[in-house]
Amino acid sequence: MERQKKEVIILGSGPAGLTAAVYTARANLQPLLIHGPLPGGQLTTTTDVENYPGFPEGVMGPDLMQMMEAQAKRFGTEILTDTIEEISSTGSPFQLQGTNGSYECDTLIMATGAKPRLLGTPGEQELMGFGVSTCATCDGAFFRNEVITVIGGGDSACEEANFLTKFGSKVYLVHRRGELRASKIMADRVMKNEKIEIIWDHQLKEITGTKKDGVQSITLSHSETGEEQTRETAAVFIAIGHIPNSHLISSFVDCDENGYVNTAPNSTRTNIDGLFACGDLQDHEWRQAITAAGSGCMAALEAERWLEARHDG
Ligand code: NAP
Repeated sequence: MERQKKEVIILGSGPAGLTAAVYTARANLQPLLIHGPLPGGQLTTTTDVENYPGFPEGVMGPDLMQMMEAQAKRFGTEILTDTIEEISSTGSPFQLQGTNGSYECDTLIMATGAKPRLLGTPGEQELMGFGVSTCATCDGAFFRNEVITVIGGGDSACEEANFLTKFGSKVYLVHRRGELRASKIMADRVMKNEKIEIIWDHQLKEITGTKKDGVQSITLSHSETGEEQTRETAAVFIAIGHIPNSHLISSFVDCDENGYVNTAPNSTRTNIDGLFACGDLQDHEWRQAITAAGSGCMAALEAERWLEARHDG
């Protein structure tokens, strides 16, 4: 199998990866961007993005990602689908082994994002895709006029709960505390939505159902007293945050205790020379499309400088 050699390879096609592609392509570095089977990152599972500057009426997440991809391609980014299984730990040049090919690059920009966190409760894994989901925009329409449950208290959970009222007859929002973590605007929308009932101070204990008939009910337990209750529901959407996709590099790149890649202050530099990390892979605090795009830009400019310094040296 032929090994593709590049000055810059970018892994990941969310806002961070595609912004890094736009910048490195415009710098004439002819980047190769590799993404897995579900391109576009988490924004492809979002509906309206109302806070990305430049879109006063909002923009659909998948549309925004398609526009970013078109912009990256316009300046010569090569985009490939492959699942990278291994990255060499010996530094630049980096060797990447994928299912379809192998690749080598002088600088590597990691923008692999994060994946939904799961609870590990009985029924969750078994019924995933059969009434349990982590993506309201993908699966919400399957539950028209049914009772839907969302787990979580952050912006994602509130956004999903609101969105799901378009389909469900009623939406339960189950939160483990007595106060939402979500931003005020999102929390207000949930509070004002008559189709949403917030079940405060409760945790999901079990999801009951079968693959044939889907989800039937959930058992909840009170966070303090442990008292249990059962509610009938046809769907459970888990929206309790994310886990960074750092497993390919976490054995040799410094990561924090939650797996987020550590980068130098005000930089996307990692402890490995020539390896840069951007977006949700590295940012556990802001995790916005616009901040991911900003850090993708930084990674591209830092990779460009790194290559220049090496040429000069
Ligand atoms: P998040 O802010 O980390 O919230 C996770 C929620 O899940 C919290 O309410 C947390 O409870 C709960 N949770 C975590 N582990 C749990 C467990 N084991 N059992 C029960 N509940 C659990 O995650 P997010 O909502 O995905 O948001 C991530 C970031 O994206 C945030 O910065 C958010 O502002 C942003 N975002 C923005 C938008 C938007 O503006 N349109 C939409 C989505 C996300 P506690 O509160 O008790 O910790």
